[in-house]
Amino acid sequence: MKVAVFSTKPYDRKFFQSKNEQFGHELHFFEPRLTQETVSLAKGFPAACVFVNDRLDAETIKILAESGTKLIALRCAGFNNVDLEAAHQHGCTVLRVPAYSPYAVAEHTVALILALNRKIHRAYARVREGNLALDGLLGFDLHGQTVGIVGTGKIGAVVAKAMHGFGCPTLAHDVQKNPDCVNLGVRYVDLPELFAESDIITLHCPLIPQTHHLINRQALSQMKEGVMLINTSRGALIDTRAVIDGLKSGKLGYLGLDVYEEEENLFFEDLSRQVIQDDVFARLVTFPNVIITGHQAFFTRNALETIAETTLDNISKFESDQSCENEVTVENIKK
Ligand code: NAD
Repeated sequence: MKVAVFSTKPYDRKFFQSKNEQFGHELHFFEPRLTQETVSLAKGFPAACVFVNDRLDAETIKILAESGTKLIALRCAGFNNVDLEAAHQHGCTVLRVPAYSPYAVAEHTVALILALNRKIHRAYARVREGNLALDGLLGFDLHGQTVGIVGTGKIGAVVAKAMHGFGCPTLAHDVQKNPDCVNLGVRYVDLPELFAESDIITLHCPLIPQTHHLINRQALSQMKEGVMLINTSRGALIDTRAVIDGLKSGKLGYLGLDVYEEEENLFFEDLSRQVIQDDVFARLVTFPNVIITGHQAFFTRNALETIAETTLDNISKFESDQSCENEVTVENIKK
């Protein structure tokens, strides 16, 4: 099938070209993100392959469909950037990669927790400057600290297991209990209790209207003084301005982010020779107790191989009219 691949980076091209030897699709790689301004690149392509920051709003989908695209093949799990109602209305099928490596994201989450606690980012810079003093690098034992996990699906469950391994009592909040977590001894509680009892809070639920700004001023007010907050899920789970105030007051002791609510104009690009125009982001990076990575939690070779394979297999199934369990519709996300 002829596929317009948007937001292509060298690593996407490498993994997709290699896996495509067994699928034989006609892949055309485009560097720009898919937006209303760039949608004309997809003209005449029956399939568009997109990533997390491509913007598939109603107007873009309408233009896509009018110019012959019938399949939107997401090469990611999240689909918050796709207007599913519009896709349905214009007869576009949406397929995704629901799971590729929960370990990649869970391990990055643990890396952020460990680095923030033991201030690895600061120690690295200090040692390179010949400063081997320890003052200011004091951490705490993870053992015995209570970890609160919001969303215990595939990724949250791996995080729960890892934190259990460190000897951390674990609380969770989810709309449904994961039996693996229950067996591990995870205690499911409501959100206020999770906020009030946790020393470390980590977010692994999807971004949907019910979870938008889940971490806001009110939520922060219920948390322990000096709490650690980690978000490797989606940026808009957090009200960033409220979190900045929490950092300034000391309520938040540590913040680890792999995602940011306004990331689409920043992430995945080398902006080192430019002046960053996003003042909220610029303020965030000034805090010594904040570590931000640019949506790299998924970025392991194992994950990229699985992403390429599942995406290309989804496209093959669509092309041969086979049903695909990876379809996303308004109905099946409500289930
Ligand atoms: P999953 O679907 O397996 O798990 C999500 C869990 O969230 C489910 O258990 C679900 O019941 C729960 N949930 C739904 N609504 C909730 C609510 N209102 N409150 C609490 N919990 C709720 O998904 P996953 O594979 O574990 O991925 C989790 C998230 O991680 C994805 O939504 C995606 O946004 C993000 N993600 C980020 C990266 C990255 O590179 N940073 C990569 C992959 C996924």
